[in-house]
Amino acid sequence: MFIQRCINCATEFDLDERIYVCSHCGDLLDIERVEPLAEGPDELRAIWSDRLKSSDAHDRSGVWRFREFLPFASDVQVVSLGEGNTPLYDAPRSAEYCGLTSLKLKHQGNNPTGSFKDTGMTVAVTQALSLRMHLVACASTGNTAASLAAYAARARMACAILVPEGQVSDAKLAQALDYGAKVLEIEGNFDVCMRVIKELAEQSSLYLVNSINSFRIEGQKTVAFELAEQLGWQSPDHLVVPGGNLGNSSAFGKGLREMLEHGLTRKQTRISVIQAEGAAPFARFYDSGQFVVEKQPHTLATAIKIGAPVSWKKASRAVNETGGCVITVSEQEIADAKATIGRDGIGCEPASATTVAGIRKLVIDGFIKKDERVVAVLTGHLLKDTDYVIKYHSQTLTTPDHKLIRGTFGNAITRVAARPCAIESALKNL
Ligand SMILES: *Cc1c(COP(=O)(O)O)cnc(C)c1O
Repeated sequence: MFIQRCINCATEFDLDERIYVCSHCGDLLDIERVEPLAEGPDELRAIWSDRLKSSDAHDRSGVWRFREFLPFASDVQVVSLGEGNTPLYDAPRSAEYCGLTSLKLKHQGNNPTGSFKDTGMTVAVTQALSLRMHLVACASTGNTAASLAAYAARARMACAILVPEGQVSDAKLAQALDYGAKVLEIEGNFDVCMRVIKELAEQSSLYLVNSINSFRIEGQKTVAFELAEQLGWQSPDHLVVPGGNLGNSSAFGKGLREMLEHGLTRKQTRISVIQAEGAAPFARFYDSGQFVVEKQPHTLATAIKIGAPVSWKKASRAVNETGGCVITVSEQEIADAKATIGRDGIGCEPASATTVAGIRKLVIDGFIKKDERVVAVLTGHLLKDTDYVIKYHSQTLTTPDHKLIRGTFGNAITRVAARPCAIESALKNL
């Protein structure tokens, strides 16, 4: 048995109530188990491990494999694309760049639509199906749109997405269009899109699946379970995530907390959140103690170009509870960290690289020690924003206020004549 509960006034709501925030005080909702779980930690680990050998779609999903912690009856029809099951990579070059002995990267870009949004979307769209909704919708900087469009298509539901005009990469838009979503371009930034769609969701029968929707958070929290399993149920010392709307950091906080409560892990992992300098309301909240919306957020890392993050209270709970920290990194730092991750043969989109840039700073500050066990979460796939990559490597990438970003690790294309000797000479220094 699960319920929805307000994180502020603790009012309870049934799971099938279509609400996104508390109807009394307007604060965020948490999904909460109200009956104890029958299985103990050893039994749970054994069940989850057995499911890896199963061919059942439910078991193959890296999210639904951990369904003991998801708020659904066992016979529910799930909308899945085989999400989760993402690799945990050793990244020696990135580790060296950060000044660490070793560094692991949990690559959520290896999800069906190329970002971590799929792990939450499978649960939110499954809930939409249970509620018999006909239209699902979201505001998006691109990845939520691509993800929702795909899962809505699987569920044969109509889907509408609001995107800020001219601010979404072609790759992300292409996905949403191909999956058949109705794409609405809004004049204004993501925060404007988010505000309108929230208003609309209160008056109409569409189902909103931004991360304000706590079913999204439930799906995303399973990534913490998958990660713990990959580490042999040994908690890392630090988990570092990019911060945009702050759903992902909230979800990791909830996942880590539930694993500790159920004895699946023993040690607290510190969750730290990294924001881009130009879109850093959460980092500023940690500096000043006051949460103020950033009116004109700007960063090339468009997935985290957000000035009014809806989940900041849940994320601050995660950071405070675990003893993490919140910092910012510059556009130059993001770009160089991204290229470094690329040189590990891994790659990611700009927003994801804030993690490695942030870890490097936290090692210099002494917050992270050289030999500690650190995991960075890469949130999106390299191919989500190729324009950025090509520009960086050809020394033409500029910040939103037109300053050149150095291609410190630039890898420019070389033009060569179609002659073996010309090619040979071009390859001489390799
Ligand atoms: C959505 C997204 C983020 C930000 O996650 P939040 O949960 O909004 O903080 C970061 N990186 C990528 C690639 C994303 O798609």
